[in-house]
Amino acid sequence: VVGIKVVMGEKTKYFKAKQGVILATGGFGHNLEMVAEFAPHLVDIIPIMPASHRGDGLKMAMAIGAATRDIGSAVTPSWPICSEKHVGALWAIFKGGILVNKDGKRFHDESSYVVCRMDYSPLTGIAMKQPGGVYWIVYDEKIRADVGKDWEYHLTHYIARCKEYKADKVEELAKAAGIDPQGLKETVEKYNNDIETVGYDAAFGREYLLKPWYPVVKIKNPPYYAIKCKTSTDSLKGGLKINARAQVVDQFGEVIPGLYAAGEVTGGLHPKAYLLGVMTTSSMTFGIIAGRNAIQHERQ
Ligand SMILES: Cc1cc2nc3c(=O)[nH]c(=O)nc-3n(C[C@H](O)[C@H](O)[C@H](O)COP(=O)(O)OP(=O)(O)OC[C@H]3O[C@@H](n4cnc5c(N)ncnc54)[C@H](O)[C@@H]3O)c2cc1C
Repeated sequence: VVGIKVVMGEKTKYFKAKQGVILATGGFGHNLEMVAEFAPHLVDIIPIMPASHRGDGLKMAMAIGAATRDIGSAVTPSWPICSEKHVGALWAIFKGGILVNKDGKRFHDESSYVVCRMDYSPLTGIAMKQPGGVYWIVYDEKIRADVGKDWEYHLTHYIARCKEYKADKVEELAKAAGIDPQGLKETVEKYNNDIETVGYDAAFGREYLLKPWYPVVKIKNPPYYAIKCKTSTDSLKGGLKINARAQVVDQFGEVIPGLYAAGEVTGGLHPKAYLLGVMTTSSMTFGIIAGRNAIQHERQ
């Protein structure tokens, strides 16, 4: 690789790269064709990464034989997002909201994101497999107020900007939000009854909101609220195969001379899990590694 061709509308320019080309174009979450090819189970997911994540760098490198790692497999669902307004809807869960499907049934321990060290994907991955790929966060006035007490910004900037269904009775809330009323009524009653009798949710073992300080709370203070959600993703983790010098490797394991890559355009660094901070830091770290090695490449 000796340079790049830049096409801007009608204009085309060529840039010769004295020290190599470093691809750092991010992932492919906004390229539906690529998502369908590499991660077909995620075509319905809502992409919340920058619109520039169209997979351009990946396509360019793959066109000259670059290998990939974990593409499609190392992809993780992120947090629930209001399906009607596309605003993050996570926060009521932290203070005691439950997740139900359209039958009004719960399907997972809602606090599992804490157990899994802030990895939402076990919860939101199962959530996106519910009928129609949709689910609702259900909470009450006290839970909503508790969010506001600790995180006022998240109440005003996120929850209040979602489409919140609201009613004085659980069945009325269900009817307004499109959930089975009888199913939701039974779920809330059982959830409250478990907390009353055994101190925690016996159906999915939800014992704490945030271990070990905050026990689960009943949903019993009207008005009741619901936000209809879909699962979003903020990053797709597979991409170009690079070596420890950030050089892009071809399908025979050979380095493609003059081509480096860093960040979300690369694969092989991240497992399926969502580990906080690893993507931003690895993007920067491998950017530095790529830059240093590109300079050495020129000197050799
Ligand atoms: C809401 C959200 C929350 C996140 N939370 C975390 C977190 O807690 N921890 C964590 O580690 N990661 C997190 N991430 C992921 C992390 O931010 C990204 O993986 C990381 O920033 C990617 O860096 P990058 O340099 O590879 O790509 P980017 O920062 O996206 O940079 C890519 C650049 O390439 C440019 N580009 C693309 N195509 C072209 C083209 N054809 N021509 C010219 N330029 C092009 C773009 O304009 C852009 O400037 C989050 C992401 C989002 C969206």
